[in-house]
Amino acid sequence: MVSRVIPVDPFDLVIFGGTGDLARRKILPGLFRRFCAGQMPQDAQIIGAARSDLDAAGFRDLVADAIAEFGGKTLAECGELPAFLDRLDYVTIDARGDDGWAELKTKMRKGVVAAYYFSVGPGLFGDIAKRLNSWGIADKNSRIVVEKPFGRDLASAQDLNASLAAEFDETQIYRIDHYLGKETVQNLMAIRFGNLLFEPLWNAQYIDHIQISVAESVGVGGRGAYYDKSGAMRDMVQNHLMQLLCLIAMEPPSKFDPDAVRDEKLKVIRALQPVAPHEIVRGQYGGNDGPSYRDDAGDPRSFTESYVALKTQIANWRWSGVPFYLRTGKRLKARTSEIAVVFKPLPHSIFDDVGEGGQNVLAIQLQPNEGITLDVTIKEPGPGGMRLAHVPLDMTFAETLGDEAEEAPDAYERLIMDVIRGNQTLFMRGDEVEAAWAWTDPIIDGWRDRHDVPKIYDAGSTGPEDALALLHRDGRRWRDLSV
Ligand code: NAD
Repeated sequence: MVSRVIPVDPFDLVIFGGTGDLARRKILPGLFRRFCAGQMPQDAQIIGAARSDLDAAGFRDLVADAIAEFGGKTLAECGELPAFLDRLDYVTIDARGDDGWAELKTKMRKGVVAAYYFSVGPGLFGDIAKRLNSWGIADKNSRIVVEKPFGRDLASAQDLNASLAAEFDETQIYRIDHYLGKETVQNLMAIRFGNLLFEPLWNAQYIDHIQISVAESVGVGGRGAYYDKSGAMRDMVQNHLMQLLCLIAMEPPSKFDPDAVRDEKLKVIRALQPVAPHEIVRGQYGGNDGPSYRDDAGDPRSFTESYVALKTQIANWRWSGVPFYLRTGKRLKARTSEIAVVFKPLPHSIFDDVGEGGQNVLAIQLQPNEGITLDVTIKEPGPGGMRLAHVPLDMTFAETLGDEAEEAPDAYERLIMDVIRGNQTLFMRGDEVEAAWAWTDPIIDGWRDRHDVPKIYDAGSTGPEDALALLHRDGRRWRDLSV
């Protein structure tokens, strides 16, 4: 397969927080990778804008170091670094004051796409949006990109939305959830809506249940103090897992168009049932001699969860009675993320020896290797008679697509290029985010009101015992977390 790189239009991209961790680890190396791939026009301009007192040369040094540190091997060999660094400029700016704004205005060109990436804490989103307009820098064609977390509850998300809506139209706002930029996540839509095979089976009549697992083997590490104010429910479930659930469960949109897709996702979130206390398990790693969340968070009395498992249902015709089991956690046995669509058992088997666990499972792996498997039943090879075996039809993208999978842009790169193209399909709309918080808030409030204490689980395990029981009660079990 020949990879097609379609260059985007000329653009000016301002990265507020351009000296920060996210910009250095993801955004700038990602832009460089697009530059090396020939997707970024030669006359694109990237302007770092942050509080640090740097000049353009200082920013170029910082970016060169970031690319060396976080860019990986293929980037080191690209040879385009000097040309890329040439595209960079820098403004020292104060998001809450007057410094730097007039200078930024002089650097923005007319007649090219203008995008402003808010890679700063959400507390600054409103200040920056306001100043972009009051200094006459942005116009109705400008785009703004905002990072997560988008609020910590419904009220704060509404405030953030209001502060952005006061300055920009919804069609100009790109809320990042980098999960939506992953190749496999987009493949979810391609598989569902590009094949005749699955859609007729995609409902309560044929699907037994769905599991969405996002397991990390690392702990909260250096982010402990930040994470402790958030927890797995806010940090992972409200955004990433919810988005995956939407893509699996939504009705077919009439076309692959940003609002058509996002309208359908919104309907899913609004149809989500509340989660009863006995259908959700919170966990916190620690307990054995291994790493302890409380040590990592620097709070020996912390009740913040590093793990959540829950069961929810979608109240509509398609999904009536089909449980969706979601789990995510840190310091688990393996780093693995997958969505598993488990089909119902056969209504009747004509074979005497059906073997173990013969349900069809469509598993979409997001990490560490992106790919798709479909568990099917075949005859066990050999002369042993009509014995059945269950084997995966395996399509690991790296193997099937070869170099093309290797070269596939990572989530941030893809999303930034979508911003330049003006395509909002893979970005969350304001009403989606609010609906997700409206579902999440009562769960978190319930924990607080009941003084809920998370269950302790061993680092390196599959999570708390109670999470196993959540499925055992229903006669099911979690899929293996190994890679
Ligand atoms: P950081 O603290 O490393 O960087 C913050 C940046 O903002 C710096 O460049 C700093 O100079 C700038 N800044 C701070 N106050 C400013 C002001 N008043 N005026 C102008 N510039 C100012 O933060 P980060 O980790 O890069 O995170 C940035 C955003 O991205 C946050 O919203 C964060 O939640 C989000 N995010 C980060 C990561 C990550 O991996 N780091 C992942 C997902 C989301």
